[in-house]
Amino acid sequence: MRAICVFCGSSYGSREIYADAAARTGHLIAEQGYTLVYGGAKVGLMGKVADAARSAGGKVIGVLPRALQEKEIGHEGLSELHLVDSMHERKALMADLSDGFIALPGGVGTLEEIFEVWTWGQLGYHGKPCGFLNIGGYFDDLIAFLDHQTREGFTRDVMRAMAQVAETPEDMIRLFENYSPPSAPKWITREEET
Ligand code: AMP
Repeated sequence: MRAICVFCGSSYGSREIYADAAARTGHLIAEQGYTLVYGGAKVGLMGKVADAARSAGGKVIGVLPRALQEKEIGHEGLSELHLVDSMHERKALMADLSDGFIALPGGVGTLEEIFEVWTWGQLGYHGKPCGFLNIGGYFDDLIAFLDHQTREGFTRDVMRAMAQVAETPEDMIRLFENYSPPSAPKWITREEET
C-alpha cells in the first residue's frame, strides 16, 4: 500500500472531534510514509486532513473538478493538484491513484464516494480496502443499516465484511495493511453459495 484516499466532509460538522480526527488521520498517513489522496479542497474536514498531512511532511495529491475550484477552494499548498473536467473523472483518478479508501464523517458527497469504491470492489473491479472511520459513533446508524441489509438478504456477508470499521485512524490503517479481498465474486448462484 502506497497511497491512501480520504473522503470526508466539505464542512466541519457540529463537533470538534471531527476536525481533530481529520487532522490525526492526515498526520498519521504522512507519518507512516503513505501519500494522501483527497478531493483537493481547502474547506471543512477536507482542508484539515490535507493541512495535517502537509505539516507532517507528507505527500498530498488533490483531485478537484474545475467547476468546483471556487466553491470548494482549491488548496494551494499541495504536492500535486489535478484539475479535472467532471466529478466522474475526479473519482476515477482518485481511485486509480489510491490503494485504500477511508470515509471520515461527511455529508452525502462523502457517502457517495465511499459507496462507489466499495461497490466497485464488490464487483471485483479492484481489491483495495474501504472503511468507515467511526468517529464519536458518527456512522453507527449507517453501520446498523448495512447489517440490516445483510440480514435481509440483499448483501452477502462476505461483501458486508469488505467494509472495514474502526474507531481510530491507527486501527484503520492496521486493518488496511492486513486486508485481503474476498476471492468469491458477487455474481455466484445460490446453488454455488450453499
Ligand atoms: P460532502 O460530504 O457532501 O461535504 O462532500 C464531500 C466531497 O464530496 C466534496 O468534495 C464534494 O464535491 C463531493 N461530492 C458532493 N456530491 C457528490 C456527488 N454526488 N458525487 C461525488 N462527489 C460528491
